Amino acid sequence: MSFSKLGLTDQLVQGILATGYTAPTEIQARAIPLALQGKDLIGCAQTGTGKTAAFVLPLLNRLSTPTHSSRRHIRALILTPTRELAQQVEDFITSYGKFTNLQSLSVYGGVNMSNQLRRLARGVDIVIATPGRLLDHLQRRSIDLSKVEVLVIDEADRMFDMGFINDVRKIVAKVPSQRQTLLFSATMSEEVRALTASIQKHPERIEIGERTKPVDTVTQHFYSIPQDQKMDLLFHILDSTQMDSVLVFSRTKHGADKISRRLERKGVKAIAIHSNRTQAQRDRALAGFKQGQYKVLVATDIAARGIDVEGISHVVNYDTPTFAEDYIHRIGRTGRASLKGDALTFVSREEQKHLKKIEHFVEKRYELKRYPSFDYTKKPEVPEGPQTRSRHHDGRPHHTPSNGTQRQHDEHKVARLHGAPSGGRQDHQQRRESSDRRPWNNSSTDHYKRKSKREFSGSVNPKAAQENNWRKLVEEIPDDKRSFGKKLKRLFERI
Ligand code: AMP
Repeated sequence: MSFSKLGLTDQLVQGILATGYTAPTEIQARAIPLALQGKDLIGCAQTGTGKTAAFVLPLLNRLSTPTHSSRRHIRALILTPTRELAQQVEDFITSYGKFTNLQSLSVYGGVNMSNQLRRLARGVDIVIATPGRLLDHLQRRSIDLSKVEVLVIDEADRMFDMGFINDVRKIVAKVPSQRQTLLFSATMSEEVRALTASIQKHPERIEIGERTKPVDTVTQHFYSIPQDQKMDLLFHILDSTQMDSVLVFSRTKHGADKISRRLERKGVKAIAIHSNRTQAQRDRALAGFKQGQYKVLVATDIAARGIDVEGISHVVNYDTPTFAEDYIHRIGRTGRASLKGDALTFVSREEQKHLKKIEHFVEKRYELKRYPSFDYTKKPEVPEGPQTRSRHHDGRPHHTPSNGTQRQHDEHKVARLHGAPSGGRQDHQQRRESSDRRPWNNSSTDHYKRKSKREFSGSVNPKAAQENNWRKLVEEIPDDKRSFGKKLKRLFERI
């Protein structure tokens, strides 16, 4: 199958060939002809399958037919859960649509609005947006969605994970009901199914691979390692293995910074990317990694969404992911577009339960090995700075009693507000495990309140609400530990 057989315009085929692709991937070959017929689609495909081009190409094809209007207006809207993914989709549009006259703009938070306002005022054909910033524009009336013909929701499952789904629904309500709706999701949960039923018309469903299956091009390794020896093992592997471009995942932002700092100190070019970094810093880090200026990029799960760097040779899960779905997403950053990749997961004794969850999810048993050439008897290096404080058995620092008690209290309050089951060993454990991820504070109270109000108004099932809200809050809100307790209390009083 060649791109010219898919029914795309010559300009688009030229644009694709100019990017170096020679043949469509499976999802492209199956989705593009259906989308060109104007059908609604559900694309159930993992990251790395070429799903972006599967919706971008038919969308550009449709928009290549000019309208009668003399002014540009927004004819296509693409919603993505993260800024990086929005930027990435815009880059693909620019590249595939090189020989078209279409204008696109990505609209996301964390950057000044004025540029976006200027571009919107001049007129664009395609907007790629994260939900929060798009709602801000809708409130200001700086975006008009009344002429949208094609709506794309990318990574719908992650929209739920991040607690954006109510925002998505609000946005969909502003788009004309006569439209084509394309929805892509790596997994098809009940929630995603319910969403598709409410916003799509007789969608065709395309499923690529099994939803829980990691891509075949990735070789997976699991290494057993005590928590306090992980840094030494990481350094040992980097030092003794041919690795060109390594993406290291950390569960927390603080952890990501710590890993990258310690690697730098040992002479490894490394940089961290997470939501406490400004957009400009994130862009610079990603650009530096892409250009090979850094060998290692250390990222949190959410910051890593949408990171599409060609030739990532290794993914290292410094922390075993707590959620099995995150494992699939993480390792999908390597082995993309049929290139080979390795995924190494560090598993401490306390994390073996997460490995069991992953095995259950992918319906496969993995061998938990010791790293062959690593000296397990060597005393671990002393952790740096505040990490030298007394620690839990799994390496997490103890929190000061007042702070810690307040946090636990607040967490229980949040869980109760959402009707989550209170207490229970597993819940308690889960809360403890993710305590480092939580949004203890934000330097901007208004911003925090606005966001939190949006997120806490969720109506998804209580357990998911609890987990999802925390996930989003954790990654979206900058830390400022001192006044978190007070702010959270104030917030609850207002609800
Ligand atoms: P995606 O699943 O959309 O995130 O794409 C994964 C990677 O596959 C990206 O780096 C794309 O540039 C690449 N890609 C997409 N389509 C093709 C194709 N037809 N041939 C080769 N590479 C592709």
